[in-house]
Amino acid sequence: MRITKRRSSVVSEPKTLKNGITIHHDKTKSLMKESWKTRHSYHNRQDGLHQMDRTCQTTLFRLRTGHNRLKAHLYKTYKIGYTDLCSCGEAAETVKHVLQDCQNYRMFRQAAWSIRTDLQTKLWGKIE
Ligand SMILES: [Zn+2]
Repeated sequence: MRITKRRSSVVSEPKTLKNGITIHHDKTKSLMKESWKTRHSYHNRQDGLHQMDRTCQTTLFRLRTGHNRLKAHLYKTYKIGYTDLCSCGEAAETVKHVLQDCQNYRMFRQAAWSIRTDLQTKLWGKIE
């Protein structure tokens, strides 16, 4: 049995459907692109998120949205665990606490950010 590779149809030629409607592939594609851009105006291709591998993207996305495995979220949302307190005992284990204040993660913060950096920049700033 011989398998032949089918050539894709010429996309620039308009096609007429059984119901008489003519479809112009290129025009349809550009309209869909514009529609997507309008509906997703918040999408920023310059966001460093797009330069990361999938694992890092997932972690950052979870930190940004607050849907993560930190105790504050797990306890408040799913009633998992006995408390939302961080293991340091100082505050709820939130994204802000871990990235800004927790003494348990001070060494990691200093390694990642040599100078004091605000939470907004840590979550949404450019990759250096
Ligand atoms: Zn802590």
